Amino acid sequence: MRAFNFCAGPAALPEAVLQQAQAELADWQGKGLSVMEMSHRSEEFVGIAQKAEQDLRDLLAIPANYKVLFLQGGASSQFAMIPLNLLGAGQVADYIDTGIWSKKAIEEGQRYGQLNVAASAKADKYFAIPEQASWQLSKDAAYLHYTPNETIGGLEFGWIPEVDAPLVADMSSTILSRPLDVSRFGMIYAGAQKNIGPAGLTIVIIREDLLGKAQAACPTMFNYQVAADNESMFNTPPTFAWYLSGLVFSWLKAQGGLTAIEQLNRRKQEKLYAAIDNSSLYANPIAVADRSWMNVPFTLADERLEKPFLAGAEARGLLNLKGHRSVGGMRASIYNAVPEAAVDALVAYMQEFEKEQG
Ligand code: PMP
Repeated sequence: MRAFNFCAGPAALPEAVLQQAQAELADWQGKGLSVMEMSHRSEEFVGIAQKAEQDLRDLLAIPANYKVLFLQGGASSQFAMIPLNLLGAGQVADYIDTGIWSKKAIEEGQRYGQLNVAASAKADKYFAIPEQASWQLSKDAAYLHYTPNETIGGLEFGWIPEVDAPLVADMSSTILSRPLDVSRFGMIYAGAQKNIGPAGLTIVIIREDLLGKAQAACPTMFNYQVAADNESMFNTPPTFAWYLSGLVFSWLKAQGGLTAIEQLNRRKQEKLYAAIDNSSLYANPIAVADRSWMNVPFTLADERLEKPFLAGAEARGLLNLKGHRSVGGMRASIYNAVPEAAVDALVAYMQEFEKEQG
């Protein structure tokens, strides 16, 4: 019996995908070898890679004038790669600070050019997204960077900013959770280990006119143009993670695509927030309109109850509910691969635990 895994990342993968990978692990489609042992330039692997890209394009309806890059280094490497590729000498880039991940992007980005923090959620304790009317945007910014979903804070934009500069979005923990109008963005990026596949792969979706602007000092391996010109195979890509992500994309298509996934994800988060809001033991501080669908942090009224809560959860096969070490409390990450039954089991346990407290 598999447990219900609420880990923020690396996160749950669909069981059907794991079973398929297991079935073809030692002998992929009768070729007598595993995907891990194939040349990345072999016909077989190039086929796997192209199908994964096409399925992702289908899922997100990615327009033809966008490149999809399969990179390494995690979303954290993008914090440097974005200014190295998009921020020219004498230019400024706008950033919106909504929490720990956007702050990390800002700290790293500042090393490669001039950034302007156009808005911050700090005054609201990172419990609400600052309204766009309050943003101090730069004139002719090279791009505007924001974090649509803050994985640790559980703070999510329910809307896409309307600005003149190309939008650059860290979608690590929200990509593929529902349909998205990719044409509104200059660039979208995501580490794979939440809603895509295993760790080790980073996906970049970038509009073609933003390529070819890299700073002279940009390392070759960090250059989007080089990656695009070489179909993400300038060097050896993370082949197994790419393959497994491809299996997740076909699984998502078989579930009915992102419209069906959206309905499921909507229900899952509604159930969990309702359980929190209808109790006097649990609380979530985020402004209701800005609550994350994928990462639901919550506290218990008495901190001393955290340990027994977690122990009881684990005993029921409800794993990884401890909040991020920087903020404490609890956090349930309910990505695409976390079934509705997992949310139902968590809600039932939360109610039972609250009753036990009398
Ligand atoms: N951005 C966001 C929103 C994240 O959630 C994470 C990982 N938790 C990162 C960036 C960093 O990703 P990585 O570990 O792939 O560098």
